[in-house]
Amino acid sequence: MKNVLFVASECTPFIKTGGLADVIGSLPQALKENERIEVRVILPLYDEIPLEWRNQMEFHMSFNVPLGWRNSEASIYTLKYNNIIYYFVSNTYYFTRKGVYGYYDDGERFLFFSRAVIEALTHLDFKPDVLHAHDWQAGMAVALAKILQPITDMKTVMTIHNIKYQGLMPIEIFEDFFDLSREHISGFEWNGMLNCLKSGLFHADKITTVSPSYGEEIKNPYYGEELHPFLLERSADLIGVLNGIDTKEYNPQTDSSIAVNYRSSRAKKKENKMMIQKKLGLPIAAGKPLYIIITRLVEQKGLHLVQHILDDFLHEDVQFIILGTGDAEFETFFAEAANCHPKKLVTLLAFDEGLARQLYASADFFVMPSKFEPCGLAQLIALQYKTVPIVRETGGLKDTVLPFNEITGEGNGFSFTNYNADDLLATLRYSLRIYHDSLQWSVLAKNVNKSQFSWQDSAREYANIYEQLMPINV
Ligand code: ADP
Repeated sequence: MKNVLFVASECTPFIKTGGLADVIGSLPQALKENERIEVRVILPLYDEIPLEWRNQMEFHMSFNVPLGWRNSEASIYTLKYNNIIYYFVSNTYYFTRKGVYGYYDDGERFLFFSRAVIEALTHLDFKPDVLHAHDWQAGMAVALAKILQPITDMKTVMTIHNIKYQGLMPIEIFEDFFDLSREHISGFEWNGMLNCLKSGLFHADKITTVSPSYGEEIKNPYYGEELHPFLLERSADLIGVLNGIDTKEYNPQTDSSIAVNYRSSRAKKKENKMMIQKKLGLPIAAGKPLYIIITRLVEQKGLHLVQHILDDFLHEDVQFIILGTGDAEFETFFAEAANCHPKKLVTLLAFDEGLARQLYASADFFVMPSKFEPCGLAQLIALQYKTVPIVRETGGLKDTVLPFNEITGEGNGFSFTNYNADDLLATLRYSLRIYHDSLQWSVLAKNVNKSQFSWQDSAREYANIYEQLMPINV
């Protein structure tokens, strides 16, 4: 048996702001099938984690965490859920706050978290053979693991879920927070800043990202967010492994959040549609095509394209629902647009898992025209609920959505190539034409029903990566 410790900043069902939480929640479950690997997960103990979970946690231990001249205390709490052991790092100053991210000292908070993970390794009853860190919040754990060697011969994997977020801080932090000799500074620095993601990537034995296409894209300036030269250099160690989704968790046959459960029945999807139309005050019309967006309202998700064409598209006989929270620019725009089109557009400025599931179950189309998309889980969840994705061909969207081809009858969605609002509009109009062409629509629906994105294959790929790093003795 070999041990793998996941280090991450969010994880379902405890705390979620986006797809990272889904991955950290579901990949260890999938890896559990491999009897030669035991995965545990370590997370910050945010105040935001519901009491329902906090009440089940057990105190494990406390220790000091040295951060330069600061000596803070961390406590570790544990919780077993679905046969996985979770460790939670508690510190009142850093984590007893509302929400998860968005504080001026986020960098410091996750430096503390990473440093606490390294300190915990010498105390825990679990000795990882591989430390697998996810995104910038955990990057410093990889760097410190390599330099401080809390466990001899422990290997490290760093996964990029989104290269846009790197955890940048003034370089002076290096001396202020770490008692490390200056020879290490080059591993932590990028473009004159202390860079948490790059620190992790630099020190990691293997680098992975969440789709093969994104793995190629981030070696180029357009997608690489200035880290592309570094990633080109580490090309041989960079692997793109497509994310899956937990198909037990996202299952329209059993989902208790939705009004009518179904496997692939379009009629039952329509019943869900009518329920949501009623609930949200839209005209009740089962046959009217329903388009939805469920997302963080940020530029990455292609919302500038949607802004440009929304008014035009709403001239068609369609309904549109947008669920999301994020940048004020988009919140204001979509709220006002809904006021202008009360019978066609509903904007819900909320993060609401149950409502999201009801929308996935009700909609005909899921719109996701991202500017870039490392993998994207929302389009996979949409497919799982038999909702047709409309995407831009980038990153994981390109790897999971094949555009419908009327001639060959292939394809499970619609897509366009250039980051261009007219192309999005044309694609939306094309989807509408196919919706009203019952023959073509039924071919497309069959392809959607066959689409499967479980973790099985990808979990095997991760297991191979671990095994290559440290051959497993049988
Ligand atoms: P990202 O990680 O970039 O936010 P993904 O597509 O990988 O994008 O994952 C987004 C996840 O968050 C999906 O599970 C999606 O359903 C969920 N989500 C996004 N916005 C909301 C919201 N407002 N309410 C509920 N769930 C949301």
